Parts: sequence; structure tokens; C-alpha cells
Amino acid sequence: MASVPQSKPYVGVSACLLGERVRYDGDHQYQADLIDALKRHFQLQSFCPEMAAGMGVPRPAIHLVEQAGTIRCVQVDQPEQDMTDSLLHSFEQRFSMFQALDGFVLKSRSPSCGLAATKLTGKLGQYRNGRGLFAVWLQARFPALPLIDENALQSPLKLVNFIQRVETYAFDSKDKESAC
Ligand code: SF4
Repeated sequence: MASVPQSKPYVGVSACLLGERVRYDGDHQYQADLIDALKRHFQLQSFCPEMAAGMGVPRPAIHLVEQAGTIRCVQVDQPEQDMTDSLLHSFEQRFSMFQALDGFVLKSRSPSCGLAATKLTGKLGQYRNGRGLFAVWLQARFPALPLIDENALQSPLKLVNFIQRVETYAFDSKDKESAC
């Protein structure tokens, strides 16, 4: 008897890594080898947090600043233009889309997508590393969702580990659904 094909887990990817020209300057950050490897294991769902919030291309560059103990996402050249609330609102509007995912591959260092090495600017102009606004939101809303950035995936060991984490997450999610 023919075996029933299993659907591949469903993984979100920062759209610029898929070759979409969604960066603020109209460019992309296509990672052909990485995307080919991911496609062998997953169905990929493109998402750009800044485009989803209606920021368009090209758009003014943004960065993260620490203000009164909170992190705000503002335009580099016009700091009074604060994008934080519109970005967060657009993430919440897409909650069910993220709920359907089994993992997410994020673009490193971005003020939206960065997972660890995003530059945060302090009150006195000093820098420290932090996470992008979308990465923070995703981790807060889906604490168990496997996340990684494209830099970490250059390591074959980390790639294998991510694939396993995603498959486990996908299996556990389906298990919960079937128990309902
Ligand atoms: S890093 Fe994130 S916000 Fe920036 S262009 Fe890529 S997908 Fe969009």
C-alpha cells in the first residue's frame, strides 16, 4: 500500500532572505544555499514585519533606541517618527498566521528581525546588542517556537539541530490538535 505523504513543517522566513526586495533600500539579502537547504525540509512562509506594517519600499531607515527603560523603534533621521506601536499592532493582527508556524528563520542584526546582535542605542549614544522588535514579540507570544537567524544556520550542526527542533514542535502541535 502506498504510504500517505506527510506534509512538511511550516517555517516563517524573513522575506529579504528569500530574495524579496523588501529592505529599506529596495535590496534583498538572498541566501540561496540556505534557502535550498530549508526547502528540502520545510514549507516556507515569507514575512517582512516592516512591509506588513505598511512601511513600503524604499523607506527611511529605522533603529532601536532605549528611552525611559523601554525600547522604541524610530527613524534614524527623524527620531520623532516612532514606528513601535504600528509595528506591534500589525504583528498582533497576524497572530493566527504565526500560530500556524512551526519555526522561524530571522535576518540577523535587523531592528525588526534581529535575534541577538541588533544594535540598541542608549541615551548617551552608546550601543549594546539586543533583539529586534519582531523577534522580541515572537518570542514573547510563542515562547516554545524554534527561532534562529541565518548566521547561526551557517553551522551544519546548528542547521540539523534547528530541523530537529522544528520537527518536534510540529509533531507536538499536531498531537495537541488531535487530542482536542
Ligand atoms: S530584515 Fe526583516 S524587516 Fe528587514 S527587510 Fe528583512 S524581513 Fe524586512
